[in-house]
Amino acid sequence: MKEFIKNLKTPIAIVGMGKSGEAARRLLLLAGYAPESVLTFDGKLESAHFRDPQALMTQAGPRTLVVSPGVPLASPWIQEAQRNGVTITSEISLACATLGNEKLIGVTGSVGKSTTVSILGAGLAAFSKTGFVGGNLGTPFADYAADVLENKRARADWVILELSSYQLENCEGLHLDYSAITYFTSNHLERYDSLEHYYQTKWKILSLTRSALLLNREGGDLVGYSNKNSSPQVQVISRKDASLVNLHLEQAELIGQHNQDNLALAGSLALQAGWPQSAIDGMKSFKGLAHRLESVGTYKGVRFINDSKATAMDSVLIAATAAHDTLQRAGKLWLLLGGRDKNLPWQDLKPLEGLQNTEFVFFGECRQIAQSKSTLPGKSYASLQEAMEDILAQVKPADTVLLSPGGTSLDAFKSFEDRGNVFKEIVQSFAR
Ligand code: ADP
Repeated sequence: MKEFIKNLKTPIAIVGMGKSGEAARRLLLLAGYAPESVLTFDGKLESAHFRDPQALMTQAGPRTLVVSPGVPLASPWIQEAQRNGVTITSEISLACATLGNEKLIGVTGSVGKSTTVSILGAGLAAFSKTGFVGGNLGTPFADYAADVLENKRARADWVILELSSYQLENCEGLHLDYSAITYFTSNHLERYDSLEHYYQTKWKILSLTRSALLLNREGGDLVGYSNKNSSPQVQVISRKDASLVNLHLEQAELIGQHNQDNLALAGSLALQAGWPQSAIDGMKSFKGLAHRLESVGTYKGVRFINDSKATAMDSVLIAATAAHDTLQRAGKLWLLLGGRDKNLPWQDLKPLEGLQNTEFVFFGECRQIAQSKSTLPGKSYASLQEAMEDILAQVKPADTVLLSPGGTSLDAFKSFEDRGNVFKEIVQSFAR
């Protein structure tokens, strides 16, 4: 364990008690800090020691703040603490201080992070018994570190980290062997004063990388940005690259051109990192993250895709095009649209009327708004269940049924996961 984590000035306050904050606390206690010197702060959580920053700073006087990614470093009280000599660190930095000989790959980007990290994870699982995949997605890095310290798991040969721009703002001590950026587009501008500042924060991943930073050629503003900030470590990857042709990524389970780009990035990282062929095979068998263009399966010749998370028009357009592109000849696409409206620009879906052999099916609270704004033809139903019942009575082999609703799930479900699970249960009962 590095001196840094053993010699933090106390008391230490963890700022933001989500998953990452809890993991940081666990690691600090394992590193030997007394429970009374590790305080918790969360503006919204009853169980935290402090909910008001002024009270935290005046009553407890912390000398170290472990700031979670959900809390802006630019918050005036954190800035003031820093000016007064308080050490500012993060869960990622604490975890890094416990590393041994793990090799690290970091992935960031405006979209496509979780998918690319999960593709890499599927590749890693095919050949490594110890690999770890987490960070912003799934298990926090500090939980990995704590599990190793407690001998609950072996040290990983490879660590794959999804890194949000918030994590990249505060990750002193993080060194990556390889890294990738999936996409640059305006996002999270509520926390950045300009697009340039947001991109700069993500671009920081280059300074953390020892070998190579790989960029997706189709990644929005990415290549343009890299041309202005060039470095010999940067490589631009295209799914058409000669080195990738023999991998036959087009045979992958994941559908969509954008996922071909994600596969190309992951496949190139695997080649550069010297991973075996089994890793590439593992990546190609990856069925997608739950509720994001997830392949539910093909039953009685009908393919089902669950994209319940799609609550933006762009996502629906991508999903519908991807599913349509992979239709078999004579197959029909059934696209389920609806849910709750949040003043969405349904009119953006109008170009979908050009898709041949496509049935639009509207459901849920916003079915009328969605249909009248999009002007797409099709039947409409009060609920997802009723819509599915009618679709399943009509589907034929070679058809694809895609749930990519556009609206949120909150008209009838607890969450997009709940909505996707209901869809999958209906599919399973059809399959029986
Ligand atoms: P993140 O973890 O960065 O939020 P995800 O991997 O969960 O991103 O993907 C979110 C959505 O972004 C997907 O459902 C898809 O619509 C879109 N997307 C993913 N990868 C790409 C890509 N390479 N290019 C364009 N859009 C993408």
